Amino acid sequence: QSKLCEPREIFTPRVNSDGFDWVDPDARSKLQAALDAVADRTWEAAQSVGSIHKTVTSPGRDDIVGIARWATAAEAVQAITEVTPWTVDPENRRAVLYRSADLYEAERVHLISLLMREAGKTLIDCINEIREAVDFLRYYAEFADPTPSVGIVTCISPWNFPLAIFTGQIAAALAAGNGVLAKPAEQTSLIADYAVSLLIDAGVPPECLRLVSGEGAIVGPILTGTAGIHAVAFTGSTATAQRINRTMAASLTPGTPLIAETGGQNAMIVDSTALLEQAVRDIIASAFQSAGQRCSALRMLYVQEDIAPALTEMLTGAMDALVVGDSTDFATDVGPIIDATAKARIDAHIAASTIVHQGPKGGSQHVAPTLLRVNGINDLADEVFGPVCHIATFAAGELPQVIADINASGYGLTFGLHSRIDSRVEEISQQVNAGNIYVNRNQIGAVVGSQPFGGHGLSGTGPKAGGPRYVARFHRGWVVSALD
Ligand code: GLU
Repeated sequence: QSKLCEPREIFTPRVNSDGFDWVDPDARSKLQAALDAVADRTWEAAQSVGSIHKTVTSPGRDDIVGIARWATAAEAVQAITEVTPWTVDPENRRAVLYRSADLYEAERVHLISLLMREAGKTLIDCINEIREAVDFLRYYAEFADPTPSVGIVTCISPWNFPLAIFTGQIAAALAAGNGVLAKPAEQTSLIADYAVSLLIDAGVPPECLRLVSGEGAIVGPILTGTAGIHAVAFTGSTATAQRINRTMAASLTPGTPLIAETGGQNAMIVDSTALLEQAVRDIIASAFQSAGQRCSALRMLYVQEDIAPALTEMLTGAMDALVVGDSTDFATDVGPIIDATAKARIDAHIAASTIVHQGPKGGSQHVAPTLLRVNGINDLADEVFGPVCHIATFAAGELPQVIADINASGYGLTFGLHSRIDSRVEEISQQVNAGNIYVNRNQIGAVVGSQPFGGHGLSGTGPKAGGPRYVARFHRGWVVSALD
């Protein structure tokens, strides 16, 4: 019996933004030289409506990235009165969003530098993130049509995808003709500021896009609870989404849409038929890439007991081979944790758990890639947002219980499966309640247009980002019926 919330659709791969040729030593050294040339730049916020100056430093380094500007409560209120829907014809909006995508690609070096320095992202994550942002701009542009917009949309984005998710929310709302109030994460105000300057250079009218950086506790309730806001797009923690939902219900017109993409307790099942080398590679990527700071990341690994010793040995060896270090170093696999508070939370979890293995330690702002022993997903409480994977084993007959436990977590974001039995793959992917199911591959890095991303239950409201129903959520229903 299928528990998928949306009917099955076939998504064909599309042409996505260009990548980067890793194996070309020339391309690497050119990129390194270009990044070195801007490495000491001090960025100054130019787009945020805020007047509070904040010095931004890199996670775990002394590097001063620049000066951000945060809004006061009064400035946030003011911004709401200043923003207007984007009423130009849809072709015009589409052209501007396409131009924005081209500008992002042209500005790749600056964007990589900012992502590395302000968000602590590794090179591969920077490149993938810029591609995703560009893909969102071009993909959502295609949905610009004459249907009326809802009006004014608040977009609240997270620090873990400070360019891609920030841009995606805004691009969808703008494609539909809305005015946008954009609230980036506190940790990544400068990236947001630079992205907005590119969007405005490409032709988005400043009165249709107001950047309101600032402290979430101060500007968040204003941007989600002031009359005149017609929809909210939010990506972040489940608890914050629930808070936003309450604020909206108390203050806005009933039924004001909230599109929330939230957390996950994402599981992977590896059965005895899996190809171990492939499973290990995909576990490493799913659990430790981006230092595990993705809502899609693998948290709960279930391994069939007869292959568990061999898989664990290979996995711990692969963990030891990871380079944990500075994000600006191209060789780094696992970069820093975003800030001291986040690191303390992860450290406390590890300290209270049974450690199977830890990889290299890195610096003071890093967490070593860590494997923890648990009995199963029921042992996990809050989402641990770092390079930490929990492992449990199961006997063949326990598979139905494992799946029941995964579904009972209440989350439903990503799920990974390694098996070479087709019928089992088919059956399990029907049974598991997850928005994005990945088979014999890693479970991160959904691609815009071909793998729409988002989950159910505690993981979010839908519609899926990068999918064909997303932009429609920012439209008003519209019928014109005329007699001849
Ligand atoms: N879309 C990302 C992925 O597929 C995750 C987004 C998030 O962490 O919020 O890995």
